[in-house]
Amino acid sequence: MSELQLSDVRKSYGGLEVIKGVDLDIKSGEFVVFVGPSGCGKSTLLRMIAGLEEISSGDLTIDDVRMNDVDPSKRGIAMVFQSYALYPHMTVRENMGFALRFAGVPRAEIEKRVNEAAHILELGALLDRKPKQLSGGQRQRVAIGRAIVRHPKIFLFDEPLSNLDAELRVHMRIEIARLHKQLATTIVYVTHDQVEAMTLADKIVVMRAGVVEQVGSPLDLYDDPANLFVAGFIGSPK
Ligand code: ADP
Ligand code: MG
Repeated sequence: MSELQLSDVRKSYGGLEVIKGVDLDIKSGEFVVFVGPSGCGKSTLLRMIAGLEEISSGDLTIDDVRMNDVDPSKRGIAMVFQSYALYPHMTVRENMGFALRFAGVPRAEIEKRVNEAAHILELGALLDRKPKQLSGGQRQRVAIGRAIVRHPKIFLFDEPLSNLDAELRVHMRIEIARLHKQLATTIVYVTHDQVEAMTLADKIVVMRAGVVEQVGSPLDLYDDPANLFVAGFIGSPK
């Protein structure tokens, strides 16, 4: 059964259509990666799933419930952004708990969830630090922690590693793969990095100019790319 479904989803800005009819089924627990060149519509699609951007036409359903007009906070989704946007004046603990406090979750429950996330992300020793006292990788883990404490069914990641240096990127990639196994949640992940896509994904969605060119496992796409664009992007020898 599909957990998240897009059906002929479109988005226009002014008169210009930037998402041109996307159909997609994502199953519970799947790690799905959107790849494609800059400007092809990856972030726009993710923001529509999150509810941060209105869907111009088509349907978004989660567990068979139409979500187009449902408030972002009620979709069971949490999003991790590229620019971590941590609150500089708050500690790691406060940064992770903030959204829950805002939502009126009781203090003891917030503490429990923050400690649980800190444990998963190995941030336990850093809970009282401010963001400027953290490395890039640690900050990114706090940003992921802010999503984990919300106990979402679905995580959305928009190029979460693109601000990190190459070595840290490899390390965080392994961390995110581990996290996916450990939390057993659905992840929808956007990147323009083919290596990231090939190593993380159960299923890759290759986009070009607002259109899905091909959907398949990394191996499917490598062995049997639908066209030269996919072959070029995935780096297969076709
Ligand atoms: P990607 O994340 O793949 O780099 P985006 O989803 O950010 O691509 O953008 C897709 C297209 O939509 C681009 O042509 C971009 O210029 C356009 N776009 C994105 N957001 C807006 C906006 N708020 N207003 C107008 N055009 C936008
Ligand atoms: Mg983007």
